[in-house]
Amino acid sequence: MSQQQSTPPPKPTPIPQQDNEFYWEKAKAHELWLRKCSDCNEVYFYPRDISPCCFSRNTEWIKASGKGTLYTWGITVRPPTPAFREDAPFVLAIVDLEEGCRIPTNLVGIPKDPDPEKMAAHITHGMAVEVAFEDRTDAISVPVFKPVDS
Ligand SMILES: [Zn+2]
Repeated sequence: MSQQQSTPPPKPTPIPQQDNEFYWEKAKAHELWLRKCSDCNEVYFYPRDISPCCFSRNTEWIKASGKGTLYTWGITVRPPTPAFREDAPFVLAIVDLEEGCRIPTNLVGIPKDPDPEKMAAHITHGMAVEVAFEDRTDAISVPVFKPVDS
């Protein structure tokens, strides 16, 4: 007899703030936007009005290409909360974006396997990845990354 599992609770969603409302609005439209400092030209994540490099307020939004490479990653076998029960095992990752900053994210599109070693066989440091979006609610889509099909 199979044990019936209840539907997992909803995943937590970001709450847009003044500095990043635009970011989430664009993510909902499946576009990735970043902040750039107009004084020192640094592109940075997470989005905020004040440049973290030189504390300038002379910053702007730029549209990212959505392309990058995998900087580092790890496979989460045990879901951190019941909301992620059906996702596990899943891949946490940090991606180097083409624009020059890093973004913490999930790597998706990796064949799921209860044996993390088998999943790891599909992942390599520095592999080309591109953005995709997980529609989490009617208002929030979360950027994730997937391997670029060669
Ligand atoms: Zn700056």
